[in-house]
Amino acid sequence: MNSISTKNATVFFNNEVYTALNTYIKTSKPSTIFILVDTNTHDYCLPKFLERLESEDIVIEVMEMPNGEEHKSIDICSGVWEALSEYNADRKSLMINLGGGVVTDLGGFVASTYMRGITYINIPTSLLAMVDASVGGKTGVDLGTLKNQVGVINEGKMVGVDTSFLDTLPQNEMVSGFAEMLKHGLIYDKDYWHTLTHLEKLDLSDLDQLIYDSIIIKNTVVTSDPTEQGLRKILNFGHTLGHALESYFLENADKTPLLHGEAIAIGMILESYLSTKVCGLSLEDLEDITTGILKTFSKVDITKQDQNSIIDLLKYDKKNSHGVVKFVLLEAIGQPKIDCVVSNDFILEAFEYYAG
Ligand code: NAD
Repeated sequence: MNSISTKNATVFFNNEVYTALNTYIKTSKPSTIFILVDTNTHDYCLPKFLERLESEDIVIEVMEMPNGEEHKSIDICSGVWEALSEYNADRKSLMINLGGGVVTDLGGFVASTYMRGITYINIPTSLLAMVDASVGGKTGVDLGTLKNQVGVINEGKMVGVDTSFLDTLPQNEMVSGFAEMLKHGLIYDKDYWHTLTHLEKLDLSDLDQLIYDSIIIKNTVVTSDPTEQGLRKILNFGHTLGHALESYFLENADKTPLLHGEAIAIGMILESYLSTKVCGLSLEDLEDITTGILKTFSKVDITKQDQNSIIDLLKYDKKNSHGVVKFVLLEAIGQPKIDCVVSNDFILEAFEYYAG
C-alpha cells in the first residue's frame, strides 16, 4: 500500500511503518525515545513493536497511562510531562504514541506542549485511531467530562498504521472504530458508504483497503483546511450530539459510558433526522442511513430527562459561535452542509425518531 502524504507528515502502512520509522531514527538521531502506551497497549502491542524498532544505541523509556477515556485528562498530562522532565527529555527527544485515540490525542498534546513542542509519531493500535484520531494533527484532552476542550492542532512527523495490531482489539472497539468509517462515507463518498453497509461482516481480510480509503478521505478533507476554517468541519458530522451523548453518559454514574464510536453512531442518526428537517435530506436517505448504522450498532435507551440534559450540553460544542449551536448536516449522502442551525424541538423529535 502506498504511503499517504499529509500536510506535514506521512502515513505508512504495515511493513513500511518499520522501514520508515527505523530510517527516521537513524537519520534524526533523537536524544531519547519516549514511548507512551496505556495498560492494554503495554501488554498487547509494545512487545511486538519493540521487536521491530531499531533504536541503535538510543535509550528508550516507556511511559504507561491507565486505559480509558476518563484518563484523557490534564492530570494524566501532568504525570507524563513530569516523567519527561525526570528523564531529562530535551527538544531532541522523540515521543512515540502507541495506542488508541486516547493515547494519540493525549500523547500528541503532551509532545506539542512539552518545552513548547517536541517531535512525535503516532502508531495507532485501535481501528478508530487508525482511520481517524491519529491523522490530521488534532490533539488534546477532556476537561472533566467535556470532550476535547483543551488541545492544539499540531501534526506529528509520521503515522504508522500496522493493521496487525487489530488482532487483539476487542470486538466492541472494532465496532466503535467502524462508526468513523461510516461517517467518512456519509460526508464524502456514497459508494464507500454503500460498500461498508453491505459488508457481510467486519472481517480483518477486507479491512486493510477500507482503512486505507478512510484515511484518504480524512486526509483530503484535513489538507484542504488544516485549521478548520470551513470544509474540515464536515468531519464533525454526528459529533455535535455525539459528543454531548458521550459526555452525558460519562458523567452519570448510573449509565454505562458509551464508546466514542457508539455515541457518534447515535449522533449520526439524530443529525440525519435533523437533516431532513432543515436541509432537504430525503426520507429514503434517512432510512438508508438509519438501517445501515443499526445493522452494526445496538439501540441505546435515552429517556426524556436524558434528552434535555444532552441538549443542555450542546452549549459547550467547539463549533458554536456567539452562543449559537452549529451543526454539520447532510443534503444527501456524501453531500454535507456546515453551520446549520436547528431548533430544540427538532432535536427532541430526532430522539423520538431514534427511539422508533
Ligand atoms: P481508546 O484509546 O480508549 O482505545 C480503546 C480501547 O482499546 C482502550 O481500552 C485501549 O487500551 C484498547 N486498545 C487499543 N489498541 C488495542 C489493541 N491493539 N489491542 C487490545 N486493546 C487495545 O479509544 P479509541 O476508540 O481508540 O479512540 C477514542 C478517542 O479518540 C476519543 O477520545 C476521541 O475523542 C478521539 N478521537 C480523536 C480524533 C482526532 O482527530 N484527534 C478523531 C476521532 C476520535
